[in-house]
Amino acid sequence: MSEPILHYRIQPAVPEAHLFAVEIEVPDTGASELRLSMPAWIPGSYMIRDFARNLVTLDAACGDRPVAVRKLDKQTWQCSGVSGPLSVRYDVYAWDLSVRGAHLDPTHGYFNGPCVFLAVQGMETRPCEVEIRAPGGADYAGWKVATTLEPGELTEGGFGRYRACDYADLIDHPVEMGEFNALSFPVRGVEHRLAITGRHRVDGERLGADLARICEQQARLFGTLPLRRYLFLITAVGDGYGGLEHRDCTSLMCQRDHLPQPGQSAVTEGYRRFLALCSHEYFHLWNVKRIRPAVFAENALDREVHTRLLWAFEGITSYYDELCLVRSGCIDQKGYLQLLAEGITRVVRSPGRFKQSLAESSFDAWTKFYKQDENAPNALVSYYTKGALVALALDLTLRQRSAGARTLDDLMRALWQRYGQEEKGVPEDGVERLAREIAGFDLREFFERAVRGTEDLDLAGLLAGVGVEMRLRPQRDDADNGGAVDAFEAVSAKPWLGIRLVPKQVEPAIAHVLADTPAQRAGLSAGDSLVAIGGLRATPSNWRALVEAVPPGEPVEVCAFRRDELMTFRVTPRPAPADTCELRLAGESEAVARRGAWLAGATTP
Ligand code: ZN
Repeated sequence: MSEPILHYRIQPAVPEAHLFAVEIEVPDTGASELRLSMPAWIPGSYMIRDFARNLVTLDAACGDRPVAVRKLDKQTWQCSGVSGPLSVRYDVYAWDLSVRGAHLDPTHGYFNGPCVFLAVQGMETRPCEVEIRAPGGADYAGWKVATTLEPGELTEGGFGRYRACDYADLIDHPVEMGEFNALSFPVRGVEHRLAITGRHRVDGERLGADLARICEQQARLFGTLPLRRYLFLITAVGDGYGGLEHRDCTSLMCQRDHLPQPGQSAVTEGYRRFLALCSHEYFHLWNVKRIRPAVFAENALDREVHTRLLWAFEGITSYYDELCLVRSGCIDQKGYLQLLAEGITRVVRSPGRFKQSLAESSFDAWTKFYKQDENAPNALVSYYTKGALVALALDLTLRQRSAGARTLDDLMRALWQRYGQEEKGVPEDGVERLAREIAGFDLREFFERAVRGTEDLDLAGLLAGVGVEMRLRPQRDDADNGGAVDAFEAVSAKPWLGIRLVPKQVEPAIAHVLADTPAQRAGLSAGDSLVAIGGLRATPSNWRALVEAVPPGEPVEVCAFRRDELMTFRVTPRPAPADTCELRLAGESEAVARRGAWLAGATTP
């Protein structure tokens, strides 16, 4: 006889009040006490979120008899005096419109399992059935469901019973319900669906065709597409951005005008960004969801789980998300260099890269990267942006030292074969060991410097080998983040303070004061609101020009409010640093051939 299964039922009970009603039927286990717990975090987003705080009421009963429930800690409930099957009922407040949250109103419902489903302790490995019920009333007659849970008996709109093999599976399939826009396209015979919610216009055919090319490119890279179905759950909003990966789907949030508009054919900056986001989350279906750090294997969701490998799971994924755009033909080589140059600029502009290594940044993601404050640029490095550059450097190093015979693609395939396919966790030294193994030469020094060290990598040297010239120059204006150019033009280093303002504000308020800069030495601080520079009123649009007008080497008086106290600082600007990256296509024919192989995903030039 098969194991008794856990039955979950969820219904948008009161959409206006943002309440989901959830019921669990726990089969008789013979135990008189049962513990229920809510996850503290959601896989893929490394921050304690305490989803239990959104549980409004909780009752339990055995048949008609109420069962005593006692809370043991912030996320655990104990039911005592249980005899026979136990029913648990609770409401969840859902008003967090983010890819990791739950959201319900009369326009749609969305949830991630960790936000709504209690785990029954000791029964996490039992199969589950979940019944998704439609909200009551004629207003909701047009609602349908999008999810990658295994379907059972369903209505035409997709309400009804779904199955999951265990609790971890149950909470890895977000659910969207409403009147979303449904599209689909096949990749290697596997149906890929899109569900787009929020007011929007989209050229669905173009979006499907572009995504199909990107997905195919990644399947070719790994040599397999280990899916039965895939779903892109997209929420289009006026202003917002984010993505969260799952084994068989992804939740994305994007700006509605970043979707390809009907009648438009150019790849806008916004659309390119959106495609890169889709590419990133899709790559995760291998890299982090199936090729997983061993420490994630326990599925511990009640506390932080630390790994020094996030640079490999997020950084390598960030490298490939853009690389796959050029390999699939969605952008050209120059378009790729544009993205790469912007990425290099972001890293060069963070002095924190000299304080924190990628291994440390990964380990402390919970308390540093996910909890960034005004000092973040000085104290930490992003395992995404610098991680992507280390992935690039590793790829180019492998290509260079093996004369084109070995690449990062080989490492990804090896990781898939050794760990992902076998459902084995990657040990903390697994990526490095496998890299050495497939390279056939010593890479210890590379990893020591790139992952555990804080020195800059020699990107210019590595890029030159594939026909890409790199240079760093001073920033021209606030909008200048570097990019791909046809020729390097002279840019002079103007007087500079070393501050960044809070964007899109009426007042010129300081967001960050960079370490070891004139502003920091003079005592300016984050939160200070600039009033005047050199006796002239400072605004968000003119402050930079006021600084640049100061004669070289001379001090200038800066007036600013700290809270409500007016303060004066004597600052001597210095020439702006070369912190902006430009890349250009160049090189001898051999280097151009190597670049072609790299950007096409081939091994030998
Ligand atoms: Zn990611």
